[in-house]
Amino acid sequence: MDILGGEKGRGGSERKIMSEECIFCRIVRGEIPSTKVYEDDRFLVFKDINPAAPVHWLAIPKKHIPRLSESKEEDRALLGDLLLTAGHVAREHGLGSFRFIINDGAGAGQTVFHLHAHILSGREMGEKLL
Ligand code: AMP
Ligand code: ZN
Repeated sequence: MDILGGEKGRGGSERKIMSEECIFCRIVRGEIPSTKVYEDDRFLVFKDINPAAPVHWLAIPKKHIPRLSESKEEDRALLGDLLLTAGHVAREHGLGSFRFIINDGAGAGQTVFHLHAHILSGREMGEKLL
């Protein structure tokens, strides 16, 4: 199986988080309030509840994909459009520059297992890793 074909058995307990109880799915359904920056039929961009920068948004597909490494070939267009959408929303809101971060897995700091990208802007990114 190629790298986009998916791997069975990865993710452990993280996989057991069903979309019904997933906090970001609940935000998508409007069951938990959020401050929306942008929304269309496939994506939602909203403010992070615990911002790490003056601008800290989360860009998510409405589809429940637990983590980037569990995305599948069928998600190819969705993943591409997530980046396009983030870029357009950032430009529309006048972010001169921003950082786009996806944490994949607990070891990388992922705490919510619904694929999301952090959009960070508004201060010097002093702790640059790369
Ligand atoms: P990560 O650690 O990469 O999984 O990022 C999860 C992010 O979700 C964190 O930055 C949290 O502050 C944020 N978060 C958790 N719950 C909420 C919520 N109800 N509304 C907005 N952001 C949230
Ligand atoms: Zn979800």
